[in-house]
Amino acid sequence: MLKSFSSVSSRSAFVRASSVKRVAGPVYAMAGGQFQFRRGMASESELDLVVIGAGPGGYVAAIKAAQLGLKTACIDKRGPPGGTCLNVGCIPSKALLNNSHLYHQIQHDTKKRGIDVGDVAINLPQFMKAKDDAVTGLTKGIEMLFKQNKVDYYKGTGKFLSANEIEVTGNEGEPSAVLKAKNIIIATGSEATPFPGLEIDEKKIVTSTGAIALQEIPKKMVIIGGGIIGLELGSVWSRLGSEVTVVEYQNAVGAGMDAEISKMIQRSLAKQGLKFKLSTKVLGAEITGETVAVKVDAAKGGKEETLDADVVLVAIGRRPFTEGLGLENIDIDVDERGRLVIDSEYRTKYPHIRVIGDVTFGAMLAHKAEEEGIAAVEYIQAGHGHVNYGAIPSVMYSHPEVAWVGLTEEQVKATGKPYSVGKFPFAANSRAKTNLDTEGWVKMIADKETDRILGIHIMGPNAGEMIAEGVLAIEYGASSEDIARTSHAHPTLSEAFKEAAMATHSKAIHF
Ligand code: FAD
Ligand code: NAD
Repeated sequence: MLKSFSSVSSRSAFVRASSVKRVAGPVYAMAGGQFQFRRGMASESELDLVVIGAGPGGYVAAIKAAQLGLKTACIDKRGPPGGTCLNVGCIPSKALLNNSHLYHQIQHDTKKRGIDVGDVAINLPQFMKAKDDAVTGLTKGIEMLFKQNKVDYYKGTGKFLSANEIEVTGNEGEPSAVLKAKNIIIATGSEATPFPGLEIDEKKIVTSTGAIALQEIPKKMVIIGGGIIGLELGSVWSRLGSEVTVVEYQNAVGAGMDAEISKMIQRSLAKQGLKFKLSTKVLGAEITGETVAVKVDAAKGGKEETLDADVVLVAIGRRPFTEGLGLENIDIDVDERGRLVIDSEYRTKYPHIRVIGDVTFGAMLAHKAEEEGIAAVEYIQAGHGHVNYGAIPSVMYSHPEVAWVGLTEEQVKATGKPYSVGKFPFAANSRAKTNLDTEGWVKMIADKETDRILGIHIMGPNAGEMIAEGVLAIEYGASSEDIARTSHAHPTLSEAFKEAAMATHSKAIHF
């Protein structure tokens, strides 16, 4: 089964003309080392592209390929397409964040607005159903898009038999097949990084997947990891009434956000009730009856203590997922962190096998995976593609939101080049004032000599929407003066963006 690198470079060797036929049943049998088709098994199929994984990377790549005229199949073992993001990641977490924020606002924020409300209560099953409905609506939408674009969607596990053959083992009731393809894109995503010694049961010791589906509001929740998942899901459960403690190994939260903004958001979340233990390491955890005892210690030596929790969320990062993919059959290069090794055109050592999204290098973000999906397909079809990794935004959907693009001030400082910083507070923005939602700042960093914008960091209401202007600015190589001279509607939050640009030249009007 194992093909040498040179033998697969001749793509046409594996192409045979036949139509795709799918049937349920066992897929193949090995007889005397020979691959044989069994009765009831799918016939060989000729495809231009097979995409393994229907997350934001894979499903976007498949649709794009079909739009460009490639005969395309996409495989996902989860069943509903959309990957981690739609099923257990971005979408459900944002539904919970939005609705928990509303609940929190109704409880704490209406009186001063002149709105008196009666008793407010959480109906957790309905709260979870609202989230599930959002997920189902969107995953069904992708299945429709697959149909409209004539992407063959297989609900099953894809496994390399050779560098051009993928075996699909259909989920229960779903067809199995062996697909032959001229091109293959691996987009199998990531999974939660386990914490050594802590057994995940998704009930008491959970990953984000368990944390978005809890059936009761925990009285106490300990979160290991003060990154994006820890702070977003910590916000959700804290707003619903849990006492949340975030244990973070580093001395800052937010996993790489600008240090000044990281401090600001930590202060803000602490005001909302989250407790933080920074520079603290977790030594272990033990379930005793209904509670989990989490032993922690100061990272640089200190007093050991035990934190009791009803639920412990392990959120210390994610790692590439390739289990069951049959990589051993093609011997693709994997780095020390489990990432599939690719060149600048997403190619593995087999030029026709490309890799995108969380399973390879770069930020683990849905929109980054999508951009790579489009670019990889364009490389296949046209020989060139483009992703500007310097202009991929990040957003944390806490309240206030945190959003950024480009370099942090620490990264700019490390270049040794002179730079200027412009800052503008939402407390001086008219729309934020009318909305009684004034916490946060826009911070813009520009090259002192050229005025080119290097980084934008926002903590504030709707920061996640506002950062799009910053992404565009960086994509087009804008200067802070370009932004400052651009008219922004009044009264809008985005005027704070313009004012921060003016402030890089110490010329903000309203502050
Ligand atoms: P995935 O979405 O992980 O999809 C990979 C798919 O491949 C999976 O469905 C899997 O079933 C399938 N698969 C794996 N192996 C096989 C196989 N052998 N055969 C068939 N199928 C296979 N990112 C954002 O940008 N914004 C957010 O707000 C955000 N929120 C998040 C919240 C949470 C709680 C989590 C966990 C993640 C969040 N992310 C967010 C990150 C985002 O979900 C990922 O970056 C994104 O899903 C990566 O896309 P992908 O296509 O590379 O992989
Ligand atoms: P992360 O990398 O954002 O944060 C992990 C945090 O855990 C870091 O601060 C790290 O210092 C800390 N940590 C690591 N080991 C630890 C230990 N032993 N004890 C205590 N702390 C420890 O990872 P995450 O929050 O798990 O998120 C995973 C991925 O999903 C990220 O790449 C993130 O970008 C993505 N995601 C994105 C969004 C979004 O875009 N809004 C939301 C959720 C997740």
